[in-house]
Amino acid sequence: MLNAGESETALQKAVITMRDLSKVYRSATIEYPALRGIDLTINEGEFVSIMGPSGSGKTTLMNIIGLLDNLTGGYYELKGIDSSDLGDGSRASLRNRTIGFIFQSFNLLPQMNLIDNVALPMLYAGIPARERRDRAREALKHVDLERWSKHRPTEISGGQQQRVAVARAMVMRPSILLADEPTGNLDSMAAEAVLKLFHELHDIGVTVIIITHDINVAHHADRLIELFDGRISNDSLLTAPDGTKAGIS
Ligand code: ADP
Ligand code: MG
Repeated sequence: MLNAGESETALQKAVITMRDLSKVYRSATIEYPALRGIDLTINEGEFVSIMGPSGSGKTTLMNIIGLLDNLTGGYYELKGIDSSDLGDGSRASLRNRTIGFIFQSFNLLPQMNLIDNVALPMLYAGIPARERRDRAREALKHVDLERWSKHRPTEISGGQQQRVAVARAMVMRPSILLADEPTGNLDSMAAEAVLKLFHELHDIGVTVIIITHDINVAHHADRLIELFDGRISNDSLLTAPDGTKAGIS
């Protein structure tokens, strides 16, 4: 295996830069250091998996990458913007424009039909109703669920719900897709269908970051980052710069 750094050239543009980043959870009684000194660069168009045992800090890292949570120490830059410069409003709008999220439990709103679920990020972005509807329909068509658009999430399978979540994540045309255990609740066939969508998005230039503890899922990526006790314990390429794939070790 190659070191991840070996693929970097001056032409590649960093979308995520972290330097000595730390996160400490504090409550009245405890202080828990969940991330301790993360140095990480992810370039535009990469397909990255993040693995690690339960409690190693994966979700914490995802929440910080996604501007859903604040760091305690160090530096984080998203698409050239220093996260410490962002107020609440610009944080939310940068997040909405830049990142599509996928969660293990799909997180669709049960009282809304599928088309309204998919259109929701565009509502927050102030996009006009007609365009919202057209783009949501197009996105549902892309994940092969257009005929279900008036149904509610409870009427479709988990695999279908996760494809709706992919449509919702992509409807703002973000440059980064961030998925936390996206296949954790899916059978293998449904998981493959979701991963196929991720590959299609990667092929059109989207930076894809998948958090997983399934090695078979992780190996869909070109680069594998491993976390242990809040630190990066390994960072390696699964696909060489010439496109050849390393075997599962
Ligand atoms: P993973 O996603 O790898 O399972 P997490 O990022 O969820 O790990 O958690 C990392 C560590 O931080 C765990 O030990 C967890 O118990 C702790 N932790 C996570 N969220 C909180 C919180 N809100 N308050 C206190 N501790 C937390
Ligand atoms: Mg987690």
